[in-house]
Amino acid sequence: MTRLTSRSFLVFVILIASIFPLNFIPHPQDLPAATHDQVSGKQGEVLVVTVPVQGDPDRVVGHLLNREIVFFPVGEGVYAGLLGLDMQDKPGRHKLMIQVEYPDRKERHRITVLLMKEDFRVQHLKLPKKMVDLDSKTLARVRKESKLLHHAFESVLPEPLWKSQFIEPVQGRVSGRFGSRRVINGQHKRPHSGEDIAAPKGTPVVAMNTGMVRLTMDHFFTGKGVILDHGLGLFSMYFHLSAVDVTQGQLVEKGQPIGKVGATGRATGPHLHWGVRLNGSRIDPYSLLKVSLDSTS
Ligand SMILES: [Zn+2]
Repeated sequence: MTRLTSRSFLVFVILIASIFPLNFIPHPQDLPAATHDQVSGKQGEVLVVTVPVQGDPDRVVGHLLNREIVFFPVGEGVYAGLLGLDMQDKPGRHKLMIQVEYPDRKERHRITVLLMKEDFRVQHLKLPKKMVDLDSKTLARVRKESKLLHHAFESVLPEPLWKSQFIEPVQGRVSGRFGSRRVINGQHKRPHSGEDIAAPKGTPVVAMNTGMVRLTMDHFFTGKGVILDHGLGLFSMYFHLSAVDVTQGQLVEKGQPIGKVGATGRATGPHLHWGVRLNGSRIDPYSLLKVSLDSTS
């Protein structure tokens, strides 16, 4: 058995403290929280990172892979950030730099993010030819609509609107998995950026959390759809609806109906396409259901 003198124990504690300068607090509700200065997750997952602060900093902001993550207070002396790992982020070790900005100084923390590869499946689909091989008029429409979509994600509400846990917008069988590599009519297409949940036409679709209606649309691919802005770069998308029951700029509560399941746009049958975007990353909506955080600001 190893015996530690009180002096060597003190050295050991100081060493540990210098190796692990950050205190990560695991959330009571089983968060994928870290206990030291490395966090790990798979492509498409969301991670919660907490950082200790003193007093009242002006701003706490993190940078990972050219993305900005704004941290928010979650308790006495603790800020948290939601880290979205995009479905196509390169596996490996990445650097997350966090800056705590006080009126008179800046404090920097460095965390290693170990990003692991997710084994996404291949999904073969057959669709009518005109929905896949687009004519020039449709192509022009699709390009215009894609610009509108990206524009919706550009402005970022400075405060989190969401409260505690996220919920599923509709219950049902998952008919199209997030991240699946799609082969449509034999052609390789972009990976699926959301979850498809099959449900009867007309089933109410509810908001996954509190947010503001950023965009309502009726586009070629998405059909009738709603994009909610939950603040701090978190957006949720609800596509292929048969009806949209909200208007742009409206505030909606968690669980509030925002539309109905349908098969509008490019869809093979009635289902909800549920997508989530976090700081520019396409993440698996189901990974958000493990997160529960309340802002204390
Ligand atoms: Zn889909």
